[in-house]
Amino acid sequence: MTSRQSGPAARGGGIRIDLHTHSTASDGTYSPEQLVRSARETGLDVLAITDHDTTGGWERAAAARPPGLTLVRGAELSCRWYGTEPSIPLHLLGYLFDPSSPELVAELTRVRAAREVRGERIVELLRADGVDVDWAEIRTAAAGGTVGRPHIAQALIRAGLVATTAEAFTPRWLGERYRLSKDDIDVFRAVRLVRQAGGVPVMAHPRASRRGRIVPDSLIVELAAAGLAGLEADHEDHSPAEREHVRTLAGELGLLVTGSSDFHGAHKTVRLGAYTTGVEAYQRIVAASSGVGVLTDPA
Ligand code: AMP
Ligand code: FE
Ligand code: FE
Ligand code: ZN
Repeated sequence: MTSRQSGPAARGGGIRIDLHTHSTASDGTYSPEQLVRSARETGLDVLAITDHDTTGGWERAAAARPPGLTLVRGAELSCRWYGTEPSIPLHLLGYLFDPSSPELVAELTRVRAAREVRGERIVELLRADGVDVDWAEIRTAAAGGTVGRPHIAQALIRAGLVATTAEAFTPRWLGERYRLSKDDIDVFRAVRLVRQAGGVPVMAHPRASRRGRIVPDSLIVELAAAGLAGLEADHEDHSPAEREHVRTLAGELGLLVTGSSDFHGAHKTVRLGAYTTGVEAYQRIVAASSGVGVLTDPA
């Protein structure tokens, strides 16, 4: 066993909080049950389940929540900033929102449908180039969860064309040659809908330039005025300088700062709890929410 308190996870004064993780409800490889159990085994005290564009893992994660683990229910919304040409995709974490809020439900349903269309088109492009991947098989492997490029990456691995998910995301494959955009949610609308549903919106990995183009700080200023509550600073896709930049910007705007693993199971190398959130930021999120509560042990 490796030490529970080593590395960047040691931050936060003893309570270990990871606010960004994925399950098989989207593109993670751990079931919701495995996710919450592993979180506790890893020594986390608070875990957020934040699957892409779905609350589909909430019930199973809640039912399997082990004693000692507080569960924060959330989602990672596929958003887009249309204020520049071409528009820039970005991810918004929404925490503790009411999962039955009609407008939000409608948007999530629409985005999941758009992902299906886009996934099938990517497969068509691959097949047109003689790559033997099969949409029905990819869809089955995604097991009813939100389908994403990582599922197509697995098909490329099965076909022996790439060795790893990371390689599948290089420009030769899903990173550029076979990358198609999907119909995302306007980021201002997403912030408004999460707030309207009693949730707390936090921008995921805002400076992750290695994933593609990033939005300017001026947009974050505007989003803060529109209801954005926080920024994710400590994330594996941020360099130390980028983390510091995000922290400083958040300080200037009065936004809370989070750190998270963005765990995806075997689809990424990062481990649960590799980055964590301080207890004050976590408490601000809980205090700002009015959708659903955190799930925790009886006092
Ligand atoms: P999609 O949501 O379908 O556009 O796919 C984006 C997802 O792919 C992200 O949420 C990550 O899970 C994954 N991803 C993006 N870039 C990489 C990468 N370089 N290596 C591994 N996984 C990646
Ligand atoms: Fe993902
Ligand atoms: Fe993300
Ligand atoms: Zn994520």
